Amino acid sequence: MSEAMVEVKNLKKHFDIGNGVLLKAVDGVTFSIKRGETLGLVGESGCGKSTLGRTIIRLYENTDGEVLFKGKNAHQLKGRDAAQFHRDVQMIFQDPQASLNPRMTVMDIIAEGLDIHGLSKGARADRVKELLELVGLSKAHASRFPHEFSGGQRQRIGIARALAVEPEFIIADEPISALDVSIQAQVVNLLEDLQQDRGLTYLFIAHDLSMVKHISTRIGVMYLGKMVEMASSNELYAEPLHPYTQALLSSIPIPDPTVKRERIILQGDLPSPANAPSGCVFRTRCPKAIPQCSAEVPEWKEVGSNHWVACHLYQ
Ligand code: SF4
Repeated sequence: MSEAMVEVKNLKKHFDIGNGVLLKAVDGVTFSIKRGETLGLVGESGCGKSTLGRTIIRLYENTDGEVLFKGKNAHQLKGRDAAQFHRDVQMIFQDPQASLNPRMTVMDIIAEGLDIHGLSKGARADRVKELLELVGLSKAHASRFPHEFSGGQRQRIGIARALAVEPEFIIADEPISALDVSIQAQVVNLLEDLQQDRGLTYLFIAHDLSMVKHISTRIGVMYLGKMVEMASSNELYAEPLHPYTQALLSSIPIPDPTVKRERIILQGDLPSPANAPSGCVFRTRCPKAIPQCSAEVPEWKEVGSNHWVACHLYQ
């Protein structure tokens, strides 16, 4: 598990929101994802994590920087190469209700990506039934419509749709946030089983750290369009360095009543990405800010083996 499948280099996605104002949803993010690993990505709503996922998969064009997928610049692929990229990289969305066309049968939803292969009707139906069974549904479900399913089942349909074209890399954008807690573990387990069977690579986006620990090999933490820390899942939980990561972790209850962790309550609201603070974007809420923090942008720096952080306290 050493080859980098995805390399994101100084990626930026800015939106022009009028009057010369730029909303810097993703603002200079650099990291890579190895083949077969799961990179968890967390941060509050509005931190840019979904925009980052959508820019990687080319639902948005990039403003600057690049995304290399298996060594090729994804945003410059054309023709056959672009079509192959759109098969190799698939997305699972947060709200299965909204992402499945209510007027289409499950058969047609899952087969959409297959249809360019010109399969016979029988082969198409067989493939969809196989995919339904793979995600824990029954082949009898193929003729039904999305509203006839529970939230967890709809997410399974979304996963089957993504798998139909045999992708290598899946961006899962908050795939369990809209589901009941009792169902979340089932969907995470399904994603893990599929990863083991098919060697999939995942970018797993979630809004809090408790959701990603179990599934992630490494975890990245975003704040206001920037990546602020990234480390192996175990190291990030055991030794968070960035004050924002420390605050996020302090809000997760520890199941052991003998262990006490002091809760760090962040003051103020998340600033607008259209008007980010100078220097370190976290400085207006950081309990450890020093004068340098308002004047200089902290460098994204590797401070330990594969442990990256952007904070003046470690430079
Ligand atoms: Fe806090 Fe300064 Fe580090 Fe930013 S650079 S997280 S403001 S200490």
